[in-house]
Amino acid sequence: MEKKRIYLSSPTMHGEEQKFVQEAFDTNWVAPLGPNVNEFEKEMAAYAGTLHAAALSAGTAAIHLALKLLNVRPGDIVFSSDLTFAATCNPITYEKAIPVFIDSEEDTWNMSPEALKKAFEKYPHPKAVIFAHLYGTPAKIDEIMEICKEHNVPVIEDAAESLSSTYKGKQTGTFGTFGIYSFNGNKIITTSGGGMLVSQDGEAIEKARFLATQARDKARFYQHSQIGYNYRMSNIVAGVGRGQLLHLAEHKRRKNEIYKQYTEAFRDINVIAMNPMNPQGDANNWLSCMTIAPGEKITPDDIMDALEAENIESRPIWKPMHLQPVYEECDFFAQEGTKGAKSVSEDIFARGFCLPSDIKNTQGDMEKIIEIVRKCF
Ligand SMILES: *Cc1c(COP(=O)(O)O)cnc(C)c1O
Repeated sequence: MEKKRIYLSSPTMHGEEQKFVQEAFDTNWVAPLGPNVNEFEKEMAAYAGTLHAAALSAGTAAIHLALKLLNVRPGDIVFSSDLTFAATCNPITYEKAIPVFIDSEEDTWNMSPEALKKAFEKYPHPKAVIFAHLYGTPAKIDEIMEICKEHNVPVIEDAAESLSSTYKGKQTGTFGTFGIYSFNGNKIITTSGGGMLVSQDGEAIEKARFLATQARDKARFYQHSQIGYNYRMSNIVAGVGRGQLLHLAEHKRRKNEIYKQYTEAFRDINVIAMNPMNPQGDANNWLSCMTIAPGEKITPDDIMDALEAENIESRPIWKPMHLQPVYEECDFFAQEGTKGAKSVSEDIFARGFCLPSDIKNTQGDMEKIIEIVRKCF
């Protein structure tokens, strides 16, 4: 018999999602927009503790609109996290602006304030800064915000992976001018696909809704004075989101347990380190990751292969953006003094990988994963 596959992070549905979707069917709100969209926006704003939220078709769309709202234009410089998923920076390119990549620091794996300062020395006037909270661990938000404030540059927080993570008691995604969340299939809650743009600026969020519905002027006819997009979330998808949001706390608790179990299980293997936590924050542990100490013979690929042989899914660390063929022309600011590696992001990429972090994994599944990893050492 085919062995049951153990997933990295797959959707976990509960039933309430269907109730909201059924309501949409019953009232024939099978359309973009509708009551579920309005309610989901209100519920997400209340959850995050922001005043306003716009439900969109993807987290990537939310980043794109945030850049538009900050008036990012062709040729503008935008600083971006280097160690992240390409969706963080691809929208910079949609606007023909120029991404400049900022290395990670070792304490949280997120944007290095030190490298950020160096980037400002060369480029004192970027149009915006976008940084991610990788794998759900809050970045050094105070330090990053302070540097950006000194230079009077607006910040977009890519909280796609960190919904429910807090920093000094406040939700990630609510520190910058804009924050974005993703409900893609493997995120901590999912709508199968979708995103949310949040802000304290109601006018900006209203403008986002306008741009996301093809920028229709308030005129009798279909009139357009600007180029718009079809980026709105549908009423069906929003129903799934409302049902999922009811279970976010529970998903976070399970993700935290998984991280804790791995940490304890590998504690005695001194060449394994788990991905670091920010002591100022409370992470959602979206994905638990580990790194192997420098100089070990065993590689992340060896362990990922050993897991795959048992039908267990794992994943490499995001490949740094400055190493991507499509971004090789872009400027990159490394953090100095990195244990022999060219940059912190390259070092984490070379020595790390993501462990299966699916909240449906049983104790038996966890024990099996742990045993396979332990056997590699
Ligand atoms: C998933 C993700 C996104 C993109 O979200 P989508 O909803 O898939 O468009 C952006 N940034 C990061 C860091 C992500 O992990």
